[in-house]
Amino acid sequence: MPDNKPREIAAPLLDWYDANARALPWRAPPGANAADPYRVWLSEIMLQQTQVASARPYFETFAARWPSFGALAAADDAELMAAWAGLGYYARARNLLACAREVARLGELPDTEDALRKLPGIGGYTAAAIAAIAFGRRAVVVDANVERVVSRLFAVAEPLPAAKPRIHGLTDSITPDARAGDFAQAMMDLGSTVCTARSPRCLLCPLRDRCDGFAGGAPDAFPVKAARTPKPQRHGTIFWLTRGDTVLLVRRPARGLLGGMRALPTGPWSDSPPGLEGAPADAAWHLLDATAAHGFTHFNLQLALAVAEAGGHETPPGEWWPIAELDAAGLPTLFAKAARLALAE
Ligand code: SF4
Repeated sequence: MPDNKPREIAAPLLDWYDANARALPWRAPPGANAADPYRVWLSEIMLQQTQVASARPYFETFAARWPSFGALAAADDAELMAAWAGLGYYARARNLLACAREVARLGELPDTEDALRKLPGIGGYTAAAIAAIAFGRRAVVVDANVERVVSRLFAVAEPLPAAKPRIHGLTDSITPDARAGDFAQAMMDLGSTVCTARSPRCLLCPLRDRCDGFAGGAPDAFPVKAARTPKPQRHGTIFWLTRGDTVLLVRRPARGLLGGMRALPTGPWSDSPPGLEGAPADAAWHLLDATAAHGFTHFNLQLALAVAEAGGHETPPGEWWPIAELDAAGLPTLFAKAARLALAE
C-alpha cells in the first residue's frame, strides 16, 4: 500500500460526489451541510438491513405522515407497526417509536456518536452515520458498500467477518475532517453505483489509479468471504380460520420474531413439519398442498397452510378481520404471502 494513499482518497472522491451524488429524499445536496436530523435518522433506521429502493417508498410515507420526532412520538403503536408492514425486521419499528419518544423527551436528537448510541435502535454504525451526515461530525461510517470499496482499495486479503476491524481502521485512515457526511455518502454511492458487488465499473471510478484491487487485476475477488454455513431449515403451520367473510387474525407476542405485529395464527416453529399442533380452534382443518417459504436472518422457514371454517360456537382469541380488507391489516410479508395462497385455493 503506498503510504500517501490515505491523503489521496477524499479529494477525488468528493469531486466525483459533487457531480454524481444520488438524489435521495432524506439527503441534503453535496456541500450543503443542512440535512434534517429527523429525516437522516429515519432513513438510517429504515436502511438497516434494507436496500435503498425498498426503503424509499416507506420513508416517503413515514416522513409525510409523521414529519418530526414529536409527530412520530405521538403515533399510535398499532398504526405505526401496520405502516411498517412489509419492510421487515420489525424490532426496528418498535425501536423507532421508543427512540422518537426519547428524543421528544430530550427536546432534540443528540449530535455526538456516544450520545446517539444510548438511544433505542442506534448501534455503532447508525450513530456514526447520523453524526456524520446530520451533524457534519467526523465519524468512521462503514456499511456493506463501504466495506466492499475499502477492501478493494486496499486489497484486504483477510476474509470477512474477521477483517472488519482492519477495514474499519483503513476507513478511518481515509476519512477527512471536513465534509465527513458527504464523504460517507460518497463512499456509499460509489459502492452502490460503481464499485458494485458484481462486475465493478472500474473504468468509471475516480479512485481507479489508487486502487490495489484494480491494480491486481481482480477487484471483484474482494471482499474475501469466509465459507458460509447453510442456514437451518425450520417448519411451522399457518392457520387460515374463516367465519363467513372474515378471517381470524392475532397479535404476535411483543417479544420475539415479528413481535407486536398483526398476523395469522401459527403453530410452534420446529425442525420438522408440526402438522396441526397449535391450531387456534377445534375445527375440520384441511392442510393445503401449497406452502409459504421465507428467509429470516438466522434460519429459513417453510410453512404449511391449514384452512378451516369456524363453527358458530368458537371464540378463539384474536379478531375477525374482513377478508376484503386484508390489505389494511398490515400483515408482515410472510403472512401476506400465506393469505394469498389461502385465497388462491
Ligand atoms: Fe472499486 Fe474498481 Fe474503483 Fe477499485 S477501481 S474502488 S475496484 S470500482
